Amino acid sequence: MASSSLFQSSPLSLKPQNPTSLHPSTKPHFATTIKCVSTSTPPSSSSSSSDHPPHNIRDEARRHNTTHSHHFSARYVPFNADPSSSAAESYSLDEIVYRSNSGGLLDVQHDMAALKNYDGKYWRDLFDSRIGKTTWPYGSGVWSKKEWVLPEIDSDDIVSAFEGNSNLFWAERYGKQFLSMNDLWVKHCGISHTGSFKDLGMTVLVSQVNRLRKMNRPVVGVGCASTGDTSAALSAYCAAAGIPSIVFLPANRISLAQLVQPIANGAFVLSIDTDFDGCMQLIREVTAELPIYLANSLNSLRLEGQKTAAIEILQQFDWEVPDWVIVPGGNLGNIYAFYKGFHMCKELGLVDKIPRLVCAQAANANPLYLHYKAGWDQEFKPVKANTTFASAIQIGDPVSIDRAVYALKKSNGIVEEASEQELMDAMAQADSTGMFICPHTGVALAALIKLRNQGIIGTNDRTVVVSTAHGLKFTQSKIDYHSNDIKDLACKYANPPMQVKADFGSVMDVLKKYLLSKRAHYPALQINVSIVQETKFLVLNALELDVHPSFVHQLSRPISLSPNKVFNESI
Ligand SMILES: *Cc1c(COP(=O)(O)O)cnc(C)c1O
Repeated sequence: MASSSLFQSSPLSLKPQNPTSLHPSTKPHFATTIKCVSTSTPPSSSSSSSDHPPHNIRDEARRHNTTHSHHFSARYVPFNADPSSSAAESYSLDEIVYRSNSGGLLDVQHDMAALKNYDGKYWRDLFDSRIGKTTWPYGSGVWSKKEWVLPEIDSDDIVSAFEGNSNLFWAERYGKQFLSMNDLWVKHCGISHTGSFKDLGMTVLVSQVNRLRKMNRPVVGVGCASTGDTSAALSAYCAAAGIPSIVFLPANRISLAQLVQPIANGAFVLSIDTDFDGCMQLIREVTAELPIYLANSLNSLRLEGQKTAAIEILQQFDWEVPDWVIVPGGNLGNIYAFYKGFHMCKELGLVDKIPRLVCAQAANANPLYLHYKAGWDQEFKPVKANTTFASAIQIGDPVSIDRAVYALKKSNGIVEEASEQELMDAMAQADSTGMFICPHTGVALAALIKLRNQGIIGTNDRTVVVSTAHGLKFTQSKIDYHSNDIKDLACKYANPPMQVKADFGSVMDVLKKYLLSKRAHYPALQINVSIVQETKFLVLNALELDVHPSFVHQLSRPISLSPNKVFNESI
């Protein structure tokens, strides 16, 4: 049947709920660009065809004609417009427009009626069938949800690094040790192509720009103002597609790792002596005059990619809905993107509820937190953002404030804040349990600690903390912390390296002290001590003596054996 060819890479037999309402086209979607399409070849046999081995995964996608998105469509509409009047104003995604007539935000609105022709199980099975493959473009965690993201784009125009599909880490030790929680998870969105979750949205924006350029729209380059991660993602995706990128960066306010990324990727980098809000103002004025496409999250296309992280979380829990999702917020597009992803899953029947959302802000840049505390009905007041280690969210006048308020109201959400001390300590504690998180994720964890202490988040609540960037982008702040070298900050969990002379005795001395300090962690060993003392065999004295290192090693092992066994082994 016709519809089965839509997803022929899937081993599942997927049936639309109402197949008669669909009119799938049988002609190849890439009719003008395909050179060797064989529409008569059954898709299932093409992988074994040796006559025309695929040159690459794009060619293979063309051959399979996996794009079926022409049933689905999306348009720009004014954000949160009254549904009865929204018909009045809407734009094709192929238009270059960032704001509504009245100057408000836009939103990408999907043809939900068309998507609803398929039931929740159909979408769940479809998305699940695409995970972890190289099938273009579905190997990407974003484009595996293409029908919900940019349904009308040719797969051929997509610029992707197979972003997304990031791991959902069970923070077992952190949860148990610091929060008495069993079901705490960290969604490592920052383990990604350019090291932050901005890749999710940028693949969508740059793909659409790629399409516009092929349509000869006046787009010479793409520009953004950035606190670091957006410019890294923009320049990487533009470089992959050969599109010029221009980034406005606040001078001396971003990490070296973030600055070097756009430079290495060949972007035109303007280092401007102002803060993020100043850069944002400038780029908006500039893009109004020049053929530069604006890539900031004012641009609602990016949120379509960012929202897939929410869908992925549900998918990774086998479509069970967590109780809480905590997202660090600055310009506030992402808190809305997560809401939108969850809400679409509910509306289309993949799940039956959505999690409660928490937006976590740095206390040094907390306009949303103040707005929340004052009560949503008060007028929103931007603030002047102060320096924070969570530099990507050092934003005082968030572009997406309306989107964030909407998302939090609709999800029974909460806003929390974290001081520099709280966020750095939370980051250090998380790192000490085997993670390597960024300061923004530290903000989210600090918010979690507060909500746990207030009893709002319960010990058994399934909670997901969204980790937004890779810790390796923020090594300087970690180095400063562990060197106890931050003004006005008690670096409580600093773990500085020990300087030791290069001789055996000195090394032994520090190691013996270290092992003794760890002794308390091994209760079995403690029992051992008393038994040993009774028998006048002072095993622990071995630590004080020059014994063979392997003997010391045995003692410092986590021991759950019976004291006798250890005792005998030691002898
Ligand atoms: C962009 C970003 C955020 C915040 O996202 P907003 O949509 O601006 O609220 C958080 N953490 C990191 C690392 C980011 O790059």
